[in-house]
Amino acid sequence: MSMKAPYREPLLPAEPGPRVVPEPRRRGEEGGGRCGVCAGSAEPAVWGDEHFTLHPPRTCSLPGTLWLASRDHVDSFRDLSSAAAAGFGPLVARVETAMLEDPGVGRVHVYRWGDGAAHFHVWMMPRPLGMLEASGMMLPLWEDALPDVPDEECRTAARRVVDRLAG
Ligand SMILES: [Zn+2]
Repeated sequence: MSMKAPYREPLLPAEPGPRVVPEPRRRGEEGGGRCGVCAGSAEPAVWGDEHFTLHPPRTCSLPGTLWLASRDHVDSFRDLSSAAAAGFGPLVARVETAMLEDPGVGRVHVYRWGDGAAHFHVWMMPRPLGMLEASGMMLPLWEDALPDVPDEECRTAARRVVDRLAG
């Protein structure tokens, strides 16, 4: 693997800042501002089942990127209902399969960060085939550094993935 940051060398190590404790409230946490998913201000879903919805990002440089959110306002894996938790793995596998049917996709990355919003969601990001410098943790950095495509392109790519979702 020859991953590489999307910045010119030399990069210099930086010192971490002082710890911020307690941490600021996240969106959707009590005292942290309203939840965009529950308020309907997030990018609308292109697909859903009884437990989850699939959304294109609002801005993205890698069309085909999706985020998968729970229908219930819960924070993390440990808060999902047992039925939703049981459905999560098979659903991610279906979405991954649909994303990989695009011959331009080399691998599908799945990220759960949880630092910005307290509504359960995971990111599914397609690493372009052959883009080995974007392997591993470098892909989100490349996604951030590359120019965004028009939102409609992201929505169209998301709908193409949904069209390929096997029952
Ligand atoms: Zn919510």
